[in-house]
Amino acid sequence: MEKIKVIVAGPRGKMGSEALRMIEKQSDLDLVACLDHKYEGMKISEFDELPPFDVTIYNDIVECLETVEADVLVDLTTPEVGYLHTKTAIQYGVRPVVGTTGFTDEQLQELTDLSEEKGIGTIIAPNFALGAVLMMQFAKWAAKYFPDVEIIEKHHDNKLDAPSGTAVKTASLIKEVRESKKQGHPDEKETLDGARGADVDGMKIHSMRLPGLVAHQEVVFGSAGENLTIKHDSFHRESFMTGVKLAIDQAVKLDILVYGLENIME
Ligand code: NAP
Repeated sequence: MEKIKVIVAGPRGKMGSEALRMIEKQSDLDLVACLDHKYEGMKISEFDELPPFDVTIYNDIVECLETVEADVLVDLTTPEVGYLHTKTAIQYGVRPVVGTTGFTDEQLQELTDLSEEKGIGTIIAPNFALGAVLMMQFAKWAAKYFPDVEIIEKHHDNKLDAPSGTAVKTASLIKEVRESKKQGHPDEKETLDGARGADVDGMKIHSMRLPGLVAHQEVVFGSAGENLTIKHDSFHRESFMTGVKLAIDQAVKLDILVYGLENIME
């Protein structure tokens, strides 16, 4: 079986370096190049903290794609760069697997159209943790029967945005199946601002930020005499790599853009 040839953009980052460690363990993946904005021409093996791949670092995606033959580009960088990489890769017939978050709706639409026009499979997944994706799907299912729900998300204290994208996505999935409902006592009043958390269509989202945490979420459903809690914990960035591998395997079979890992999980 021919190996899937992979380029990783952002190889020195927290996610990118984890992706290199994942690729090192896979017999059916072959790392063929890396994209960075520094260290042009150096080899990945020159970095002590990275796996000893004898592959070259390129700073220019066009030069990289014109020099190296690749099947998939895994992008784990920043929104502006990730968008340019994705667009360029599709134009060059290389399938993007994108974990970079923060694309605008317009960018997503443009990439969806380009992917379809070129017949090049693209996967953009804001959450690669399979457990987190399942948590969201289970929560959507439960919300049909338990319309009273609060979401508690907990992250490390370097996170810049609150609530997390996963919490917002969970609430929007629940919203698809739940009648709009204001929760709690109709006359409830906050005696301290923010005590009841953020509000999405009457659902409450609470965000906790503490050192030591990675990415955690509980979706708590309440009903007469019972509670149901659906809980997911990412303890390490390794938790995202099963999803990255799944996306690489699926991307080579697709000819359109798929947004969200749930859409490639059977
Ligand atoms: P990070 O540690 O800051 O890594 C980003 C890397 O991209 C850095 O090494 C950075 O280099 C590099 N970079 C910046 N500009 C570049 C360019 N033009 N070309 C190539 N590389 C460039 O961040 P991270 O935690 O790994 O996260 C990376 C992305 O993944 C973020 O968008 C984050 O939100 C997302 N993320 C997604 C998931 C998921 O499950 N989908 C999970 C976690 C994070 P410098 O440090 O030198 O600037």
